[in-house]
Amino acid sequence: MKEMSGRKQGVASPCAACKLLRRRCSQDCVFAPYFPADQPHKFASVHKVFGASNVNKMLQELPVEQRGDAVSSMVYEANARVRDPVYGCVGAISSLQQQIDLLRTQLALAQAEVAHMRMRHFSSTSMSSQPENASPSSSKLLIPSQTKSFFSMDMVDSLWSC
Ligand SMILES: [Zn+2]
Repeated sequence: MKEMSGRKQGVASPCAACKLLRRRCSQDCVFAPYFPADQPHKFASVHKVFGASNVNKMLQELPVEQRGDAVSSMVYEANARVRDPVYGCVGAISSLQQQIDLLRTQLALAQAEVAHMRMRHFSSTSMSSQPENASPSSSKLLIPSQTKSFFSMDMVDSLWSC
């Protein structure tokens, strides 16, 4: 009969937080909406890293509409800290940053290669070819730039098709 109204008078099963803390899950339990009983690992890692009273304090200080996002963030950060006790999610951020740097370098190299191929093709097909060092556009294309890459690719395609 009371199935739809959820936890009442502590009769129904407590939330994951209260279950782990071995306390009574009150009707206005701050944890209950975000730590359902069927996902005990979420609160376990957050409790291990931040401490239940800190999580409680943080949630109390936030407006209700921001608590869900805060819990998602805390769970993510806690899991990252469990996986990597030294760096936590900073380790993930810096590893992604390294990937970005590496991919930017690869992109710049690819753009330089495209510019080089374009220049070679141009000088071998053009009747009025100028010496390579006289082309002002070649040096510009070596600079990595997001807008230039499309431009140079289009130039290569049009040159190959003619
Ligand atoms: Zn509770």
